[in-house]
Amino acid sequence: MIAIVLFGKPGAGKGTQAEFLKEKYNLTHISTGDVFRFNLKNDTELGKQAKVYMDQGELVPDSVTINMLAEEVSKNMDKSGFLFDGFPRTIAQAEALEKLLNEKGITFAGTVGLEADDDVLVARILERGKTSGRADDQDEAKIRTRYTEYNEKTAPLIAFYEAKNKFYAVDGIGSIEEITGRLSKVIDTLI
Ligand code: AMP
Repeated sequence: MIAIVLFGKPGAGKGTQAEFLKEKYNLTHISTGDVFRFNLKNDTELGKQAKVYMDQGELVPDSVTINMLAEEVSKNMDKSGFLFDGFPRTIAQAEALEKLLNEKGITFAGTVGLEADDDVLVARILERGKTSGRADDQDEAKIRTRYTEYNEKTAPLIAFYEAKNKFYAVDGIGSIEEITGRLSKVIDTLI
């Protein structure tokens, strides 16, 4: 089994691209944001823990997120591997992921980063907010907090993976099909 991390700022198109890539490569797509939103909607204990942070656009604490992710991986060992979207978002999460993959005998293929300018992304998120129903997509202050969280806690992961020769940048501007093509070209070299 293999694992691929789909990396990028909020609005970079990770979720959209994951929908295509999971089919193409027979991977289980795990979006930590989606799992949190599902739990929020169903008012579970995990949802209650995550809500305060998500409502503000802040990251959910590592301990909560890492435990949740480990559970999702254990439940889904039936495909060719995993496509992680929105995880890891901190160095502690990346280290926990490494450990988890080792324990499970899953090969880490690499991190593929979708790149785009902030102004393009904020406009995309506000547009998505009109239909997504996500409170964190509709309020500019919350979007700004998500970018601050990204810059402070998540951006250092690029250097973390580059140091391991495991970071692959892909231009995230273009049509959905164009970007799927660019991502596939990289992923084909990793698997
Ligand atoms: P996303 O759908 O990936 O934009 O995530 C929406 C929100 O869920 C984020 O703003 C965080 O509050 C929370 N979240 C999702 N993934 C993580 C993660 N890996 N670590 C911490 N919080 C997360």
